[in-house]
Formats: sequence, C-alpha cells, structure tokens
Amino acid sequence: MKYSTQVYNKAEKEMNRRRVTAQDTAQHHLDAFYAACPEAQDLRWRIASTASRAARAALRGAPAHKMIESLKEENLSLQKQFNDLLAAHNLTRADIEPQYTCKKCEDTGYIDGHMCSCYRTLLQQIAYENLNSISPLTLSSFEDFSLKYYSDVSVDGKRSDRETMRIIFDYCRHYADTFNSNSGNLFFTGATGLGKTHLSLAIAAEAIKKGFGVVYGNAITFAVALERERFAQSEDSNGDTLSLLNTCELLIMDDLGVEASSNYVTSTIYSVIDTRIITKKPTIISSNLSLQELEKRYGARLASRMVGFYDRMVFCGKDVRMQRKLNSRIDTPHS
Ligand SMILES: [Zn+2]
Repeated sequence: MKYSTQVYNKAEKEMNRRRVTAQDTAQHHLDAFYAACPEAQDLRWRIASTASRAARAALRGAPAHKMIESLKEENLSLQKQFNDLLAAHNLTRADIEPQYTCKKCEDTGYIDGHMCSCYRTLLQQIAYENLNSISPLTLSSFEDFSLKYYSDVSVDGKRSDRETMRIIFDYCRHYADTFNSNSGNLFFTGATGLGKTHLSLAIAAEAIKKGFGVVYGNAITFAVALERERFAQSEDSNGDTLSLLNTCELLIMDDLGVEASSNYVTSTIYSVIDTRIITKKPTIISSNLSLQELEKRYGARLASRMVGFYDRMVFCGKDVRMQRKLNSRIDTPHS
C-alpha cells in the first residue's frame, strides 16, 4: 500500500523517537551505574579489549587458536564479574541495554534492507489516525444503547418498534462479538436519530478492541477528503483516503447521501463499495435514504450491489436524540 510523504515522515519521526528513547534510557542507567561503581566501567573496557584482541588473533588464523581460547575464557570471567556488580546494584543487563519496541529491527524499521512489520503497522496506524482525526471517532457502546426510547405498542398485530429495534440490536451485538475479516456487510437505513450512528460506533469500538483497522467517517467528510486529494497540487497529499477506504479492515460510512454530489464523488463512492465487495472486506453503511432513494442518486448498479451483498436493517421509532434531550431536561429541571 502506498502512503503520502506526510505519513512516511511522521512514521520515521516516531521510529527515531522510539530508538533514541531506548538508547538514551539505557545510556542514562549505564552512566548512573558507572558513577556509583567505577570498577564496572573499568571491567567494561577490559571486556572490550579481550574482544578486540580475540578478533585480531582470529585474523591470523590457526596458530592463534590457543590464544583465542584463553581470551574467550578471560572475556567470560570478566562478563561474570560485570554481571555480579550489576546484581549488587539491583540492576540487570536489560537495564543498561536499549529496550527497543521492536526487537527484530531494533526500531530502525528495516531488516536487511526490507521493511520490518512494525514499520508497516505504524504506517497504517498513522494513516488511520489521519483519516479518523478529520471525523473524530467518539465511540459509543452497546451498553449505553437504550431500547426504552422505542415504543412497545404493537399496531395491527405488527411488531412494535421496540421489538424491531431489539432484533436489530441483537444482530449488531452478535456481529460485533463475532467480527472478523470475513464478516458481512450491513446497511442501516431509517430516519435521523434512530440509533444508526450509535450502533455503527458500538461495532467500531468492538472491532478496534480486537485490533482491526477501522475507518469511520461521514460520507461528507470522505467526499471532501477525496475531492481535496484529487485537486491537491503536490503529489505529497495524494492517495491516503481512497486507498484506506478501499483497503481498511472495516469501513463505516455514515450518512451516505448527504454529501454534495459530483460525478467524481458519486463514481468514487460506487467504486469503493464495489471494490470492497469484490475483495470481501466488511463495510457498514448508514443512510437516511431508502434503497430506492439511493438508487435515484447513485444509480441502479449501486442499489443492486447493496441488495445482493448487504444485510439491510430498517431502523424505526421516533427521534431518539430528541427524546433523550427532552428526558434529560425533565430529569434535571435546574440545569
Ligand atoms: Zn521492527
């Protein structure tokens, strides 16, 4: 995956910070140890000297064999004395050696010229953070979702709003509990304020807890970012949004249909939805528009893709946000 220079710069800075912090901390401990125990520093020099003498002897080949053996022994005995001094000061090797975040690449980001997995993870994380920072991921939970705002009155023997919402809630809870890279796609439809965003965010929170890379955002935010990157003058700001929308492990697109429509945005959103279906990446879309209205706006292709590949949930009831506000006013009359 390709990232913008900005993402690479930020990642490199972070790798440097990790490496320097690990080295500085170790050096700091070592300096304090030598100050308290000067003979340890002397031992260290002698250890270094046996090592370099052994290396020189090795260059001379076979006749030096005996000498190398004795230097090795001397080295081991000095090491032991050094470790004993450390122990006497309640320290271990780990205290005076850099404790890198990644032991494999020692926080350099590369192993034999190949990018280390820690660096790849960091790049992805920064790109997610960049995207999610423009649409802050204020997470909701399943626990604070209340069914009491939905009417339990059944009309003409039909399911009450509360019963319908209980089914949707249970479905979402199960989806979140079992979320994995093979999970299906969800389409939440219904009027404003019925809990679509709340449940999407509750799912996002669970997926993030499991370590999945989640991109959450309003369709407006995505549209603005896509347009901006399309017209960006410098190559530096290219690419992050579109490639993240296409490749993130869970995409949650809120409020589809409220973004300003341009041919570019409409066709890009279609292509993101289509790409994710083809590559089998879980997506949750919520919209105040019905499927018919989405069809009018994005065309029959998108609507038919969504019918075929999304589980549709029709939210019902009366504006919960409004009721909550009213309730909180009644509950706390002095505020
Ligand atoms: Zn690494």
